Amino acid sequence: MEPALSTPFRPPPVCVMGWLSGNPRLGFRAAGSTVHQGLNAGKYLIGIGDTASVVRYAWLESLKAQQQSLDSPGASPATGSLPTIQGVAASGTYGSKKAAALAAETAAIGDTRSDIKNSGKHNEYGGWVLSKDGKYTYTLPVTFGQDGHFYPSNVTVPSGYGAVASFHTHPDSGSWGEGFSEGDVNWANQNRMNIYVGMSYSGNVRVYVPGVTKYNGFNGVTGDLIGNVP
Ligand SMILES: [Zn+2]
Repeated sequence: MEPALSTPFRPPPVCVMGWLSGNPRLGFRAAGSTVHQGLNAGKYLIGIGDTASVVRYAWLESLKAQQQSLDSPGASPATGSLPTIQGVAASGTYGSKKAAALAAETAAIGDTRSDIKNSGKHNEYGGWVLSKDGKYTYTLPVTFGQDGHFYPSNVTVPSGYGAVASFHTHPDSGSWGEGFSEGDVNWANQNRMNIYVGMSYSGNVRVYVPGVTKYNGFNGVTGDLIGNVP
């Protein structure tokens, strides 16, 4: 279900909660957390008037509620049932981490958009940015088949390479997925590594650099724009 982003929000909140619950990306299908998130979102709705903000708020709240696993790459210890996917280095090499990350996100956004087009699935793709002998490359993008999760630590680092950053996509069909989630930011801070994200909706590629990039909170967009994949 696609929210009409340009349509002004109209009360009552219960209607909005109705369509939020129809959006699988937002995680409202989990019965255990629906009430809690619904109440929070309902309270927040009173003070604001635009639909995109409501969706973004609900999305970020759902990420926070499930931070151990949801869009919280690598930081989670609770990954026992997840597969480990073998990382395969791309053939191209690049002179900078940023150039390799842009190439990685171009590939990953392409894969994400292909899934949406071919199967209607909104899968996050990602992997590692790699270094070797002063050059940079990346692991070919992979997916765990989940619309709100990516786990770089479950992608192996190819032999002979060092992992210097992680990258992933946000496959959301609207602007609420723009920028990094709180889980993404925590991962970068904990691992002291850049993290890159590419949005399939806008094509924007953003970086978060620990200690440098500002975190703009749940209603802002976090991440410095470094490119766009048309
Ligand atoms: Zn993310």
